[in-house]
Amino acid sequence: MGEFKPTPESAKTAGVTRTDQPWTVADSAELYAVRQWGEGFFDVSEQGEVVVKAETGAGSVAVPLMEIIRGMRERGLDMPSILRIENVLDDRITSLHKSFQAAIENYGYRNIYRGVFPIKVNQQCHVIEEIADYGSQYHHGFEVGSKAELIIALAMGRDDKSLIICNGFKDAEFVELGLYARQMGIQCFFVLETLTELPIILERSAALGVEPALGVRIRSAVSVEGHWSDDSGDSSIFGLSAGGLMQLVEQLRACDMLHCLQLLHCHLGSQIPNIRDIRAGVLEACRYYSGLIAEGAPLRYLDLGGGLAVDYEGSRANSTHSMNYRLDEYCANIVETVCESLDPHGIDHPVLITESGRATVAYSSLLLFDILDVRDHRPPPLPQQLPENSHHLLGNLWDVHLGVCSTNFQECYNDAIFYREEMRELFLRGHVDLTERALADNLALAVLEKVAEYVRQIDRPPSELQHLPELLSDIYYGNFSLFQSLPDVWAMDQMFPIMPIHRLDEEPLREAVIADLTCDCDGKINSFSTGEGIRPTLRLHPLRDNEDYYLGVFLIGAYQETLGDLHNLFADTNVVSIHINADGSFDFKREFRGDSIADVLKYVEYDPQVMEEQFRKRAESAVRSGLVTASQRRQMMNAFRASLDGYTYFEKEDS
Ligand SMILES: *Cc1c(COP(=O)(O)O)cnc(C)c1O
Repeated sequence: MGEFKPTPESAKTAGVTRTDQPWTVADSAELYAVRQWGEGFFDVSEQGEVVVKAETGAGSVAVPLMEIIRGMRERGLDMPSILRIENVLDDRITSLHKSFQAAIENYGYRNIYRGVFPIKVNQQCHVIEEIADYGSQYHHGFEVGSKAELIIALAMGRDDKSLIICNGFKDAEFVELGLYARQMGIQCFFVLETLTELPIILERSAALGVEPALGVRIRSAVSVEGHWSDDSGDSSIFGLSAGGLMQLVEQLRACDMLHCLQLLHCHLGSQIPNIRDIRAGVLEACRYYSGLIAEGAPLRYLDLGGGLAVDYEGSRANSTHSMNYRLDEYCANIVETVCESLDPHGIDHPVLITESGRATVAYSSLLLFDILDVRDHRPPPLPQQLPENSHHLLGNLWDVHLGVCSTNFQECYNDAIFYREEMRELFLRGHVDLTERALADNLALAVLEKVAEYVRQIDRPPSELQHLPELLSDIYYGNFSLFQSLPDVWAMDQMFPIMPIHRLDEEPLREAVIADLTCDCDGKINSFSTGEGIRPTLRLHPLRDNEDYYLGVFLIGAYQETLGDLHNLFADTNVVSIHINADGSFDFKREFRGDSIADVLKYVEYDPQVMEEQFRKRAESAVRSGLVTASQRRQMMNAFRASLDGYTYFEKEDS
């Protein structure tokens, strides 16, 4: 065992994996796949920085994220922060409407498209206000699933041509609000999810003397692929079955209200990666639509729900975090399917509605944070040669280390592990001292390091070695909380694009996993979509002394902000909303300070004032016992108060 003669050849190739070409920003763009997932909104500049691009009246402008961070820091807004870019949100709304418009013209569709934004996807006031303001030119409305969301839609809506679609369980108060809206000329629809809602609506409607506009949600039998597919299929908890629909028609007919049934609703689920599922869902919805028309319901609106996916991976694939279609294709498929399905029956084309949430807001928000520390996994430098009279197993390890090459790396791995375990055994029994044990560990690590280099280069590494690169990666500690800012990474292994936002003209020489501040073993990111496929590690740059290193997590505008929680009491981050102008300058349109420690303590039922008083008493008793002076007490009280007022995240000295 361990008879590997070091040859000059193997010694030279080990660890040398890269070509001699100097690293360029194009290499970075490729490595982080920014042009694949960035949808034209993000790119790498010649200066090696990530830029956000905006189409303005005068053409496209690009703003480096580092410049925005500088502006934020000057204003005292520290990392971590969420950055929202209004132009990107605006652009998504425009694309949605233009794509549907193009499909409508292309297929000679004889009605219009109306979009609604499902408020649950991002309820933040900033975002809703921008959608209402900018979207009003397209009469973009809202989908609501609760009374609180209805109140948002009623207060924030701008024009009476846009729609409000009410899903979810509706009590009498909810129904009344919706009926008053109707009376005011607002196009508010109640979508029935169950038959039990109907009596409440009919009763309130009679009492107020206002006719409701009714929709009905069908329980689709199409079962779709992807993570969020439970909304569809026979087991879905939402919507009426075919039998339920017939009962509904009977009941409405019986009270002479069938004419109120105007809308058919179908939601297959979120993030549908496969266009074929979408087509199948639309086809099924159309069959129900025709069926209800035949029953005498004067339907005029077809609402196809959400589901339009976001390509978080940038791989254009039929996989959970990707999609095998583009927006244009989505719109064309819907319009074409509706025409093909309804035309043979001579049914008028309905107003088409979709409730795209994720695809509307994902791109416009990103999380920015700095790296606080790195745990370098590398062993300390090895000695030039083994100490005299070293244990013979150390000699064996030494030989293995010198002999690793492309043809024997798996064998070397096995040997290194074997000798290391032997040494550990001997250490336990007291036959080997701590110095020797440490040297054995370091030598074995050095072997694994070389082996990992080879593993990284091959497509299908032996299963035993697959985890080696991750095991031997550095840990980059980021100033953020996964649980607060990226809850879906924790809850459902959601993948978001992550990359450094500067130094992209330098080769990223470290392999890393990213850990957050919670020091919870779940608070780490170890799955990355890169230009080289999905990897357990991400290539990052070594930290430099006295220089911040910033990463961005992109496409987080959907669902992340409100699902976040207070694990370890890391609370809401700062939020900044910018608008990019035609000359490439940008305005800080909105700023929200993240929670202070006092804020977050109040969430969990503490009273910061009482806490301060309790701390004061302890400090005073320390003065009485002579442990601190009265003026030291003052300093301590000041520090306590400053912490209560401060940010829950790591605060840098200079700020
Ligand atoms: C969640 C939800 C949506 C949004 O789905 P996306 O995939 O984010 O577009 C739309 N409609 C309903 C009824 C929903 O529950």
